Amino acid sequence: MGLFDWITTPLTCPYCGTPSAEWQTKDLEPTMTGYTLEEFKAALLAKPHGRATSVNGEIHHICEQCKAYISLLVEARDEANWEAAMQEFRKTHPALSGQGHQERPAP
Ligand SMILES: [Zn+2]
Repeated sequence: MGLFDWITTPLTCPYCGTPSAEWQTKDLEPTMTGYTLEEFKAALLAKPHGRATSVNGEIHHICEQCKAYISLLVEARDEANWEAAMQEFRKTHPALSGQGHQERPAP
């Protein structure tokens, strides 16, 4: 129904460098709640997971400046993976402007 939650992050747009503070997610109960990244991770972990061994969360943002769609997938159960995802996100996105969904580059 178009509802989402938002995540406040210290990230910047990997394409143009504009601060991209406010991200959205639909991976929680969408109640228009604001979270920090740490709170988002805690909320992901608090969800019922059944037999799942990994707890993934996806956040996304559309850059106000270059209009790039930025998507970041994180693994909440693995602290090292979480940090690595943040760092890889910053490193692997080339500084280019673009529109639409930017796919993760192939390894
Ligand atoms: Zn941008």
